[in-house]
Amino acid sequence: MKYDLHCHSNCSDGTLTPIELVGRAIEMGVQTLAITDHDTINAYHHLNLKESLPIKIIPGIEFSSCWGKMNVHIVGLNVQLDSDSLKAGVAFQNTARQKRATMIADKLDQLGFKETLAGAAAIANNGNIGRPHFAQYLVDIGAVSDINQAFKKFLGSGKPGDIKQFWADIPQIVRWINEAGGTAVLAHPKKYQLTRTKLKHLLDNFIEAGGQGMEVISGRQDANITKDLAGLCVEKKLLASCGSDFHRPGQAWAELGRISELPIACSPVWEHW
Ligand code: AMP
Ligand code: MN
Ligand code: MN
Ligand code: MN
Repeated sequence: MKYDLHCHSNCSDGTLTPIELVGRAIEMGVQTLAITDHDTINAYHHLNLKESLPIKIIPGIEFSSCWGKMNVHIVGLNVQLDSDSLKAGVAFQNTARQKRATMIADKLDQLGFKETLAGAAAIANNGNIGRPHFAQYLVDIGAVSDINQAFKKFLGSGKPGDIKQFWADIPQIVRWINEAGGTAVLAHPKKYQLTRTKLKHLLDNFIEAGGQGMEVISGRQDANITKDLAGLCVEKKLLASCGSDFHRPGQAWAELGRISELPIACSPVWEHW
């Protein structure tokens, strides 16, 4: 069974509609898929989960969270989409995202760019505005050559548009996920570029908060990284998850279903459902 439990539609910062995303996953041989948009479950409103499909859909979400001064991402898997807790969490994060978008726009406007909020909102279809939408707007007006440059110069870590303080903390996010019957999984642990000591500290805090799993596989990754993360996962007695973190076609390192299998030492998150 091929699982991909982390990907994005255009309800957050992906480019495919939820229906296109599911279609591509099927083409790529994925048998169980979780769409995990940033802080929203809107993708599921575009899908008919009662329809019989050649793929199993596990409802999911990727919440943005704060850990000290850092941003970390927590994936909620197998959540009940009609849960009041989940809806409250999504509403809180949505307000935070709107506020942050205004602040990012203010910063970019101070740098001399015009109408950045309206520009980003149009790219996000007036939905869930993220930094990638601002990045695309900066590309579209010719301020930078590509999205990567936009992050490097204006939106990435330590840059003016990197506004961090608004997301819910880890205990709050884990509570929303658990109250919705879901499993809380720390997303892409290697992306935070922490020392091993710091990463263990993050995992310990996550576990104290009730977190249950971690991504051992995130996209196409080196075998050494998989080994290292599998070791941590077993040591911390966490469930293991895997996902591509697909956002758009053409990124070979994050393609639907193009991920290696979980090491056998790991306890897969789906065996717990
Ligand atoms: P946000 O949720 O608005 O903070 O945006 C975070 C998203 O931006 C991540 O999920 C990635 O999809 C994207 N992202 C982060 N850093 C970069 C980067 N350096 N280049 C391109 N995309 C990035
Ligand atoms: Mn993203
Ligand atoms: Mn993420
Ligand atoms: Mn993601």
